[in-house]
Amino acid sequence: MKNSIKLAILGLGTVGTGVVQLLQDNLAELKRRSGREIIISHVGVRRKRDDIDPNIIQNDDLFAICADKEVDIVIELMGGTTVAKDVIMHALQHGKHVVTANKALLAEHGNEIFAMAEKHNVHITYEASVAGGIPIIKVVREALSANKIEWLAGIINGTGNFIMTEMRDKGRPFADVLAEAQALGYAEADPTFDVEGIDAGHKLALLASNAFGIPLDFDKVYCEGITKITTQDVEYAEQLGYRIKHLGMAFRRKQADGSDAIELRVHPTLIPENKLLANVNGVKNAVLINSHPLGQSLYYGAGAGAGATASAVVADVMDLVRVIAVEGNGHHVPHLGFQPSELVNTRLLTAEEITSSYYLRLHTLDNVGVLADVTRILSKAGISIDAILQQPSHKAGQVPVIILTQAVVEQKINQAIAEIEALADITDKVVRIRLEKLD
Ligand code: NAP
Repeated sequence: MKNSIKLAILGLGTVGTGVVQLLQDNLAELKRRSGREIIISHVGVRRKRDDIDPNIIQNDDLFAICADKEVDIVIELMGGTTVAKDVIMHALQHGKHVVTANKALLAEHGNEIFAMAEKHNVHITYEASVAGGIPIIKVVREALSANKIEWLAGIINGTGNFIMTEMRDKGRPFADVLAEAQALGYAEADPTFDVEGIDAGHKLALLASNAFGIPLDFDKVYCEGITKITTQDVEYAEQLGYRIKHLGMAFRRKQADGSDAIELRVHPTLIPENKLLANVNGVKNAVLINSHPLGQSLYYGAGAGAGATASAVVADVMDLVRVIAVEGNGHHVPHLGFQPSELVNTRLLTAEEITSSYYLRLHTLDNVGVLADVTRILSKAGISIDAILQQPSHKAGQVPVIILTQAVVEQKINQAIAEIEALADITDKVVRIRLEKLD
């Protein structure tokens, strides 16, 4: 039986430094829980650092670290999908267990990486890659493993949520808040992944595979960002009792032939203001899961930052310590929560097949009859209206009209919007934002 477990940490940036700090701070507690000494034996760094314990070997050759027989667990905290992938594959081939926080890498190459881990009878854990410190992967694949998950909806990008919160609370425009998020270090210098929904899409792909037992397929996740949301829409939504949140959502949908299909989508969404999820503010993350027989359950906490992310990374290390302690890797939760042979290629619906309610904002000339034309088009398409709100004019002679629809297939709303935009009295493109009641 091994009395000490040796870790190699590759990448000492925000998260890597947080992991080193946590392992130092909680050393005694970690030993009490695991019954083992947990020792950092190596760090992978490009340049030698003076602030590292001299007992730790520093090396810029990451492949050599992964092949070193002293190392039990490799922790990849560099990010990126090229070097990180090669290094992780190398570690798995050399029989090392791996911990990573790299959602982009797993969402895009996870199927291949997990297969490599299975082949070499080692494990790769990735709790920190989704919702930072919230143990949501563990919840979905372990705590809820008795349940059938019907849908989940999450605020899984802190930067996006910070921007939406500031726009609502202070009426500030998107670009202004984004600049502040960058200055505060919430958003990257290149914020594309955050504000275009790609980061949330990576996380959603991982959550959905664990929820439904499907292989990872990031390319089929519909991703829409928050860059087009205006303070006007935030205000109108508020007047109707809704808040706009940037959500990642996965729904199991029954098809006409009785088969299951799955919708995976990230986009700004109106949700009722009395929902707990609508009140998750700032950089916080939360995931709401509807499962049978439990019903709805909500998980909330810090989705990013050195301490929160390190908490998830080291919890993964603790799980792997237990795996190593059991001869023959007895205690192993499958990488995507279901036995690899049981993953099912359930059809993922296209963007046109998505079903959702809608918020529509139209700009009309102040003429009698235009609203009748709009409602006629919607009714002809079989789209029921939930609410109509006519707003005071901002521009002379032009009236903003807000319409909330009931659930409709995307293809139908697209056709109806095209017809509405063709009306002579409609002066601008129709703004549309999806709406979910989350009941
Ligand atoms: P970061 O601050 O940019 O740190 C990355 C570190 O990796 C840098 O110190 C960089 O070194 C190092 N690195 C990159 N390539 C390397 C190489 N070839 N050899 C040695 N070192 C290398 O990033 P981070 O925020 O810690 O994020 C790390 C990972 O955690 C990413 O996958 C990210 O998506 C994920 N994550 C982060 C958070 C968060 O709150 N930050 C939350 C959840 C998940 P140099 O300084 O020399 O470039």
